[in-house]
Amino acid sequence: MKRWFLCFAAPWTALWLAAAAGGQSRPYPLGDQAKLYQEMLAAVNAIPLYGNHAHPGFADDNDVDAMAAPPGESSVLRLRDDNPEFVTAAKALFGYPYDDFKPEHASWLADRKKAAERSKNPAYFDGILDKLNVETCLANRAFMAPYLDPKRFRWVFFGDAFFYPFDNQGQAASNPDMAVYVPLQENMLRRYREQMGVKELPQDLAGYEEFVRRTLMDNQKRGGVAMKFEAAYFRSLYFSDPPRERADAIYNKYRAGGVPPAEEYRIFQDYIFRVLVDQSGKLNLPMHFHTAVGIGDYFSLRQGNVLNLENVLRDPRYRNVTFVLVHGGWPYEREAALLTAVKNVYLDTSFQSELLYPSQFKEVLKQLLTLYPDKMMYGSDSFPFNEALGAEESFWLAAHTTRAALAAALAELVGERAITKDKALTLARLYLHDNAQRLYGGAR
Ligand SMILES: [Zn+2]
Repeated sequence: MKRWFLCFAAPWTALWLAAAAGGQSRPYPLGDQAKLYQEMLAAVNAIPLYGNHAHPGFADDNDVDAMAAPPGESSVLRLRDDNPEFVTAAKALFGYPYDDFKPEHASWLADRKKAAERSKNPAYFDGILDKLNVETCLANRAFMAPYLDPKRFRWVFFGDAFFYPFDNQGQAASNPDMAVYVPLQENMLRRYREQMGVKELPQDLAGYEEFVRRTLMDNQKRGGVAMKFEAAYFRSLYFSDPPRERADAIYNKYRAGGVPPAEEYRIFQDYIFRVLVDQSGKLNLPMHFHTAVGIGDYFSLRQGNVLNLENVLRDPRYRNVTFVLVHGGWPYEREAALLTAVKNVYLDTSFQSELLYPSQFKEVLKQLLTLYPDKMMYGSDSFPFNEALGAEESFWLAAHTTRAALAAALAELVGERAITKDKALTLARLYLHDNAQRLYGGAR
């Protein structure tokens, strides 16, 4: 405020001199933008990527995610398999000899991937990363796969299953998508219990909290570098702060059976969420949240809006917890960006880099780069679509889109004299690599 005041108070001659010296930004770029774009693109291509979010794996590997697509899922235009960019991706990665994915052609690609899967050789997915100049990739999976090289793929495990210890019939019946999601969460909780040798639900809430805390510690020991929540698919991202006695009473009431009404289940989840946040802070384990529109007919844009997390992100008790807004809040990407003003809040642009074409994504990046460029991270949200179109082509699409959009955004900012070329490349390195490295550590 003070600086702005001084600026307005300065003599007009001083302002004129500053403009003449070339320090003033302008609304239209001058000079050869196409050339500047090519120059920026070459520099951006040379920066290795550190991906904050992806689901690497083969199509029949159920552990690529803790949930599954609901029935009748409708893809957005760009992610349908008639997008010709996927042909380009398959050609670039595998020398795919066809120009479409007719079943008799797609089988060529599927056969190749089946052979790679049979070989169980981690060199396969390492090779995909190498071709795309990706150094490190966080792998958000139910459990890690032996065919992923832990030096390149670092595990982000899931935390949502702890929300579902009781009889979930009421939850599963709330809509057809939940009928798909909830049994998968129950399965995940069962696997965590097996992992920790917890045969029955603990006798009291203290025992359950202990199980939750120990599982997080154990997952971290197994290589987990962050914990992800898909909660936006199941419930509101608004978490209240109920007293422990309420959660204790609910636990005692439903531990041995009975279907909790939605409101009581929500209060219990809100309490367990606070336990998870607390333990994440103690373990220095960043928390990832799905913050974007989601698939399915019943995903609630209102409940999934990133602003629902504001009370948690700005809670002074959680200054020691790192929060990452995965998918950067889209379509509420400006709200998400402004939340990264908080010291311990970051975002990634995964999913946007596949959903949006470069011309659209450029506008998002231009905004992000001029707000908190030390808080934004690259991500792909790469996922195996089917046997032919895999996480491999998805990696390609995200990397290509991000580099093209970033080069265009930087070229415009340089052309408009908002930033220098040197500054542009510094910002590019922060976004594509360095911010993530600072959070999770370098390549191992
Ligand atoms: Zn994802």
